[in-house]
Amino acid sequence: MALIVQKYGGTSVGNMERIKNVAKRVAAAHNAGNNIVVVLSAMSGETNKLVGFTNEASEFPISREYDMVISTGEQVTIGLLALVLREMGLKAKSFLGSQVPIITDSQFGSARIESIDGTRLLEELNSGGIAVVAGFQGVDPNGNITTLGRGGSDTTAVALAAALKADLCEIYTDVEGVYTTDPNICQDARKLDKVSYDEMLEMASLGAKVLQTRSVEFAKKYEVPVMVRSSFNDAQGTLVCKEDTEMEKVVVSGITYNKGEAKISVLRVPDRPGIAAKLFRPLTEAGINVDMIVQNISHDAHTDLTFTVTNTDFKRAFKIVQDISGEIGAKDIVGDTNIAKISIVGAGMRSHAGVASKMFDVLSGEGINIQMISTSEIKISCVVDVKYTELAVRVLHEAFGLGKQEVTEEMV
Ligand code: ADP
Ligand code: ASP
Ligand code: MG
Repeated sequence: MALIVQKYGGTSVGNMERIKNVAKRVAAAHNAGNNIVVVLSAMSGETNKLVGFTNEASEFPISREYDMVISTGEQVTIGLLALVLREMGLKAKSFLGSQVPIITDSQFGSARIESIDGTRLLEELNSGGIAVVAGFQGVDPNGNITTLGRGGSDTTAVALAAALKADLCEIYTDVEGVYTTDPNICQDARKLDKVSYDEMLEMASLGAKVLQTRSVEFAKKYEVPVMVRSSFNDAQGTLVCKEDTEMEKVVVSGITYNKGEAKISVLRVPDRPGIAAKLFRPLTEAGINVDMIVQNISHDAHTDLTFTVTNTDFKRAFKIVQDISGEIGAKDIVGDTNIAKISIVGAGMRSHAGVASKMFDVLSGEGINIQMISTSEIKISCVVDVKYTELAVRVLHEAFGLGKQEVTEEMV
């Protein structure tokens, strides 16, 4: 008897008909003799709607109350699925994160799971039941409701799979697996049979929202096999697993884009030691993650500093920087939300030269200006104007031979 954690995303539980379709899948897996824990997202669009309400209620919503509101979408879907499963004669029970409990830290809006007590869920399974758990939420040591960051139901699922020592974690979504790039913007995208934890980690953190980054960190740490597949058909999905030698041969395995970041430029700052620390410390203290940072060459003892933050943090970050601009002697602060980060990812980049220059050539060939660049062992990212997103993804996908008619010889 296997223990399987199945997670269904927003589109898969988007209305009653789809919830009934999910119930059929869950029942089939249960009736085949498996122990099933189901993790659900809110209905698609629901969490966005709830975020909208908090913004109407307050310009800078207090984070505890923000989480109280935006965690509620999942309560609806788990209750409904449990009801449908019971109508089908199955013993199903729904659980909020706090009822499991899933204990997190107190970083509202992007809390990290600290521990999971699986006792209650295992009792349910041992008595022949199906446990239906709310994704995306937990509870801090003081009893406050927390959320795990957008897309966080994936993390609930993988963390539960790790805590319960499940045999498999299945992520059911609206595409058939992990593709070479987002299949919704590039028709030529190819489904991968397998992808390594490290590559998936980079792809997720660079914008391939098919899996939340934290979920891949959990999967890698606890070696949870994760199968990404469609909730609408039975097609073979993509297995996220440990790297094997075959994977290393592929130079570039995916192209990602992220429209969820914004750029802040601090202009003409006196070029003195300590300026960067003064600028970034208050951002860190406010729980704001800074992604890319570029400092321009100093002219007449002045320099420009540009960095990116998530769109969600942009307003708060801009205000913090404005508040300290006098103290650091900056001449001006400019924000730009019309940017996208385009990245290429591949384990084989470790051992192949020339990938970066090829990326720059391809983008410049289309007249796309690169505003910022960052690299790691297995990825290269460029910030460009958001209007070029789809074009950049398509031309890079083609240039690196990732399409369905892929070229197998050396592409670099
Ligand atoms: P769910 O609601 O099921 O969690 P998400 O919308 O969070 O689904 O994630 C699935 C979406 O991820 C797909 O519809 C697709 O547009 C997007 N996506 C981005 N990059 C990729 C990729 N490389 N492979 C598959 N899907 C991707
Ligand atoms: N409902 C949450 C969101 O929209 C969590 C999830 O879907 O994974 O971000
Ligand atoms: Mg998701």
